[in-house]
Amino acid sequence: MLIKNVRILGGDPVDITVVNGLIAEIAPAGTADGDAPAVVDGRGAIALPGLVDLHTHLREPGREDAETVHTGTQSAARGGYTAVHAMANTMPVADTAGVVEQVWRLGQEFGLCDVQPVGAVTVGLEGRQLAELGAMADSAARVRVFSDDGKCVDDAVLMRRALEYVKAFDGVVAQHAQEPKLTKDAQMNEGVISGRLGLAGWPAVAEEAIIARDCLLAAHVGSRLHVCHVSTAGSVEIIRWAKSKGWNVTAEVTPHHLLLTDDLVEQSPNGSYNPIYKVNPPLRTRADVEALRNALADGTIDVVATDHAPHPVEDKETEWAAAAMGMVGLETALSVVQEAMVDTGLLDWAGVAERMSVTPARIGRLSGHGRALEVGAPANIVLYDPSARAEVDPSAFASKSRNTPYEGMTLPGRVLATFLRGKPTVLEGKLA
Ligand SMILES: [Zn+2]
Repeated sequence: MLIKNVRILGGDPVDITVVNGLIAEIAPAGTADGDAPAVVDGRGAIALPGLVDLHTHLREPGREDAETVHTGTQSAARGGYTAVHAMANTMPVADTAGVVEQVWRLGQEFGLCDVQPVGAVTVGLEGRQLAELGAMADSAARVRVFSDDGKCVDDAVLMRRALEYVKAFDGVVAQHAQEPKLTKDAQMNEGVISGRLGLAGWPAVAEEAIIARDCLLAAHVGSRLHVCHVSTAGSVEIIRWAKSKGWNVTAEVTPHHLLLTDDLVEQSPNGSYNPIYKVNPPLRTRADVEALRNALADGTIDVVATDHAPHPVEDKETEWAAAAMGMVGLETALSVVQEAMVDTGLLDWAGVAERMSVTPARIGRLSGHGRALEVGAPANIVLYDPSARAEVDPSAFASKSRNTPYEGMTLPGRVLATFLRGKPTVLEGKLA
C-alpha cells in the first residue's frame, strides 16, 4: 500500500509505502513507486503515530447497552486510536485472567483497534483484597496496568501491597484519586458555583490528598504509580514535586478537563443543571484548566487519556443528582487537544504525538504502539486534517452512546484515516 502526500508530525510532504503491516519506505512526496496495489491520497494531511488511550471504558461485559468492544473500538478507530486500555469496572469486574482474556480476544476478533485490558487492583473493585494480579499479568492479555478506576484504592495498606506486587512484572498501578469520605454524595466541584447552586461540593483536596499519599507510597516501595485524570492545580503541584524527586510517577489529563469549566453547570448552551457536564472527577475552574494545560505542555502531566465513559440516554437525561457521571471522548479527543493545546501555541504536533501515542504506549508497555513513523516500524498511523472545522454531531458517532458535552460546538480538525498495522480501519473519515 502507498499512502501519498502526508506530513509526518507536520513536516515536509512524503509518501509512505507499507508492506506486510510495516513501514517499508518513506520518500519525498511524488517520488514513490505508484504501482502499489492500493493507494490512499493523504492530500497533505498530518500523519501521527496511531493514538494510544490509557483510559477507556468499553463496558463489555455487562453494560452492552452503553458500549461494546465492537462499537467502542469503532469509536476509537474514528478518533485515530490504534490501541486502547479497557478499564476493569465491567460486570463482571475484570479481576481474573478469564475476564481480561475475554476482553482482549474480542478486540483481536474485530481487529479495529488493539484492546489492552486493565486489571482490577482489588477483587470486585471492593477495596478489600488484592485481585489475582500475577495471573492477569501472565494471561494471554499480558496485563501491565492495574486500576480500580471508578473507585479509589483508599486503603493505604492495600495500595502499598499493590504497588509492591506489580514490580515483579513491571506493572503500574493507575489510581483514581478520590478520598471517599471527603466526596460522599459530592455532585460538582466545591467552590463558588456549587455554593450558589446548592449542590454538594467535591473538594480539590479529596483528589490531592490521595495523590500526595500515593506518590509517597510509590517512592517508599520503589514502584511505578500512574495518576488518572488529574483535575486540579494543586494535583499538578504535587506531581511536579514528586517528579522533581526522581520518583516513578506519571499522570494523565482528559480532553474535557483541558477545555471545560464548572460554570457550565450553572449556565451553558445546554441549559443549567445539565447532567451532560456531570463527570468524575468534576469539571473545575478556569485557573485549574490553565494549570493543567501548562502542566501538559511542560511534561509534568505526561499524557492525554480520554476517560471515554459511555452511558445510555436514560442514565444521563435525568435530574442532576441521579445522573451517571462521565462523557464519551474517543471521537473528539484529538480535536479538543488541537483546540486547547495546539491552536493556543502550547504544543506542536510532535508534542501531541508524544502525549497521545508514544508516552501512553510506554506507560502501558505496549511495544507495538507509540513508535515513531520510521522505516521498519509497524504502520499504525492516523491521518489528520487540522484545517477542517465542523460542528460536533453526536448522531454521527460510532460509539453506542451519545453523551458528549461538545454537541453543537464547532471544533477544529478531522481524522481522515486510521491504519492498524497497515490495514485501514477508517478512510475518508468513515469506518473502512
Ligand atoms: Zn476514574
